Amino acid sequence: ASGLRLILGDQLNAQHSWFSSVSDEVVYVLMEVRQETDYVLHHAQKIIAIFAAMRAFAASLREAGHRVHYLTIDDPANRHAITDNLLWLAQHYQAPSFAYQEPDEWRLDQHLAEFARTSLPGEMCSSEHFYTARAEVGEFFSTRKQWLMESFYRSMRVKHEILIDALGKPEGGAWNFDHDNRKAWPGLPWEPQDARPQHDHQALWATIQAAGVKSFGEPSAQYFRWPLDRQEALEQLDHFIEFALPHFGEFQDAMSSKAWRLFHSLLSFALNVKMLNPREVVAAAREAYRARGLSLASVEGFIRQIIGWREYVRGVYWHRMPGYTENNFFEHELTLPGWFWNGETKMRCLQTAITQSLQQAHAHHIQRLMVIGNFSLLAGLHPHELHQWYLGIYIDAFEWVEVPNTMGMSQFADGGQLATKPYVSSAAYVDRMSDYCKGCAYNKKKRLGDDACPFNALYWDFHARHQDKLGRNPRLAIVYKQLRQMGEEDLAAIRQQARIWQAQLETI
Ligand code: FAD
Repeated sequence: ASGLRLILGDQLNAQHSWFSSVSDEVVYVLMEVRQETDYVLHHAQKIIAIFAAMRAFAASLREAGHRVHYLTIDDPANRHAITDNLLWLAQHYQAPSFAYQEPDEWRLDQHLAEFARTSLPGEMCSSEHFYTARAEVGEFFSTRKQWLMESFYRSMRVKHEILIDALGKPEGGAWNFDHDNRKAWPGLPWEPQDARPQHDHQALWATIQAAGVKSFGEPSAQYFRWPLDRQEALEQLDHFIEFALPHFGEFQDAMSSKAWRLFHSLLSFALNVKMLNPREVVAAAREAYRARGLSLASVEGFIRQIIGWREYVRGVYWHRMPGYTENNFFEHELTLPGWFWNGETKMRCLQTAITQSLQQAHAHHIQRLMVIGNFSLLAGLHPHELHQWYLGIYIDAFEWVEVPNTMGMSQFADGGQLATKPYVSSAAYVDRMSDYCKGCAYNKKKRLGDDACPFNALYWDFHARHQDKLGRNPRLAIVYKQLRQMGEEDLAAIRQQARIWQAQLETI
């Protein structure tokens, strides 16, 4: 009899203790199933990347002498549901039980726990990836009044002794350098050359299509530049540390139609499928600070994303699930306009960010938050629909990280459990942080009229229509003061204009 060990598509962690010894008694199981391709409409690159990385991972296990049973999407024996496959594989190998690593998604976690209880005895172990255990963030905040990323982040710095000096104080005398990290990009220095790998995935793509899997977005090799194994991921990490990290902090919030990637790492896919461990990413950034004297603002800003935000949102997810995806604090009901799937809107900021997302399966944080998310919230799009769109389109989108970012940070659909105020702005912010407004069909300065930038009327209307829910938020005192100072007629005209935009979303 053999033991089965299940490896999910986002558990490609070659350093997991499972693999430290080779045994004929163990069969590793990986499977490409419709259950996982079809729960939401995915970007083509996301399906290709996950399957290709799974295949490469299985090959490396075999090479190291492990036994592997790999079910491809077109294998006639494939039942296309994880547990159905496990049942017949258990029979096939006469395995009395199976083992699995903690799934990162609530749905799969429940599903496998139930299956292990009722059908095939199973044991769950750690995925040996994150700094924190699932419940750790929740426990941290159980004795605190408010959930604040910053207080969790500081505790992580201390606990893991990251950028902490000999006296136990934060390196450089401050916990963060956010004020240095809000620059627009003037056009120089130029973004690093795209050194990511290229792959010929035509055969795999043909198989996926022949299996009837539906998808959207650009599949062509020209845009498909994701690391598919650990070696490629490590090379990408090195390249980022050398060429982009030095400017990461400064231009973290900047956007440009000339440089889509700017100084971001593009490491989220490799991290989220666990090809890279967050500790080695943090170690590489610390080493660059120590040995090459990189600016603390860049290194600290980057490390905060990894040990702060990434771990924090995971903790939020496990604390709030189930039910977090159903939140709709503002009761927003509008359906997503068709241009979310083809980028064809006259608003240049949205057109750029969405077209890029369709081509690259990637957009950086401020594009996701302050262009696409900002517009969606101001316009009143349904947060659950939007969540499904984000979960489908981005190469790095897995529910544990996508849901708190979309429902919590971006849409405030949880009523402020994650963010202290909605992340919204009028056209002025987008114009300050990007070159998107230049050449746009709409006028960034105007609030009224067919050629006014829709962000402006929608911004004031959003605050006016949700005064009962937001009016007492101290962080919005200035906004509401400005609203009160606005003449009644002016406000009525702005709100009328916002109704027009909401009615014309398809053609905006
Ligand atoms: P960099 O800017 O180089 O940052 C480095 C790393 O820090 C990232 O790879 C990521 O692991 C981590 N990180 C940065 N910001 C966050 C954050 N807010 N939450 C968690 N980790 C963070 N990130 C995902 O990994 N998957 C998602 O599905 C996802 N959905 C998002 C949806 C919305 C609406 C928003 C506003 C943000 C979302 N993010 C998501 C967070 C962030 O936008 C991406 O992690 C980042 O753009 C990935 O690109 P990068 O690797 O170049 O990141």
